[in-house]
Amino acid sequence: MKGRRTRMSTIVRKEQRLKTFPAWHRLLFRSADIASKDGLLSHPKDTVRLLGARQWMLTERGIDKALKLSGIPIEQKSELPVVTYEVERVKKEIEAGKRQKDYDPIDNRKKPKAITRESLLRRRGFRQAVIETYDYSCSICGLKVSSPKSLLWEVEAAHIVPHRLSGKDDIWNGIALCHFHHWCFDVGWFALTPDYAIEVNSRLSELPVDYGVMRELDILRGSIKSNQKISLPRRQNDYPHENAILWHRKNIFMKGAV
Ligand SMILES: [Zn+2]
Repeated sequence: MKGRRTRMSTIVRKEQRLKTFPAWHRLLFRSADIASKDGLLSHPKDTVRLLGARQWMLTERGIDKALKLSGIPIEQKSELPVVTYEVERVKKEIEAGKRQKDYDPIDNRKKPKAITRESLLRRRGFRQAVIETYDYSCSICGLKVSSPKSLLWEVEAAHIVPHRLSGKDDIWNGIALCHFHHWCFDVGWFALTPDYAIEVNSRLSELPVDYGVMRELDILRGSIKSNQKISLPRRQNDYPHENAILWHRKNIFMKGAV
């Protein structure tokens, strides 16, 4: 009896709610419901488990279809600010990982060479987790800038052990860097110390004074300075892992600088 009353009152509440919504809102709700049945949107009852809030969310299938309709090449998907239900799920998994002292930033498993749907999702989840964790800012210079319509962020999610050398898509092997500092890091202009300070390549002092200067701004020497601490995420769990930092220091900064 109690259960029936609850069910009845839920139906009444639902009807009252529907009556108070304007017609366009009801139509929108119905369209979203149809789109979720077609797998283009995730239903609020599923999304609430992921985000703690009821909302419709675009799925991978949904964004693929939207890109096709808009004539946007599918390869640009990872650059867009839209986070799909599946990417958000992978991002949450990455963020929930617990830091291990003996963490290995290199994936030593024998993997199929082909790029799979899972590996692409993981890459996008990694990118999203890293740039959000660092508040869309470069951890070296603090640059935080988006495109004019705020559709794209300039900051990149850099791998500390490069992805081409089987560096993992984990928050501990990632760091948010602007395009310029990403390049400087990848070619060995600087490394990080275990206490998150910058160490500059000694060759910098051998360069002519006008080298690396943008008009009057000494962009190279002015932004990477030895002993300067980098900006770190709010949670210590998300800091770059010392094993990844040491790998980069040994293999890129000391031996592999180009
Ligand atoms: Zn920067």
